Amino acid sequence: MTIDKEQKHVERQQKLKEKVDERIAAAQTEQGVFQVITGNGKGKSTSGFGTVARCVGHGQKAAVVQFIKGGWECGERNLLEQVGVPFSVMKTGFTWETQNREADTKAAQETWQAAKQYLADESINLVLLDELTYMVTYDYIDLQEVLDALKNRPQMQSVIVTGRAAHRELTELADTVSEVRNVKHAFEAGVKAQKGFDF
Ligand code: ATP
Ligand code: MG
Repeated sequence: MTIDKEQKHVERQQKLKEKVDERIAAAQTEQGVFQVITGNGKGKSTSGFGTVARCVGHGQKAAVVQFIKGGWECGERNLLEQVGVPFSVMKTGFTWETQNREADTKAAQETWQAAKQYLADESINLVLLDELTYMVTYDYIDLQEVLDALKNRPQMQSVIVTGRAAHRELTELADTVSEVRNVKHAFEAGVKAQKGFDF
């Protein structure tokens, strides 16, 4: 780099730093964050679990509710239960295969009761509601009930909801919304879901 270019770079970086510092200084509110992670790409649940690991790593308390149970075991659960993270997993295991609306509604309702308890527990810093979006879409759990539980949760508690096609009212209520876009996925090229990577 010439001296002139170098100088310009330093000036630009300095300006950027000032702007970022200003915004950091302005963000002073302490509160739990409600995040929605949606979209068709891979990385929603793993992102949620990453935040659970982050929370637990600080000695804080997290709880996980899984609204879809595939046919495979969950690596994150195997690990996180060992460090005391409670899991509530939907029993009958709603999947894209299930046809029995009544049984699915009952299972979803049972699991939602556990979620509500976590959402009322001040000692829990982070609640991950994995694949909740589908329960609302299929009307297995009442949207208004979900919104109320989220709004009335302890002030410092953070919540993450994952799943495709999040209801507009959920994204409106959320503080942070991330959409994972599918660019490509190994599955489309015939690669089977891999243990330790996909589950
Ligand atoms: P992950 O749990 O890997 O973060 P996800 O939560 O974003 O994935 P889900 O919609 O919950 O994605 O899908 C669960 C399973 O489907 C995972 O095994 C994941 O690898 C796979 N999957 C995710 N996105 C795609 C996709 N675009 N095409 C095919 N399979 C996918
Ligand atoms: Mg997922």
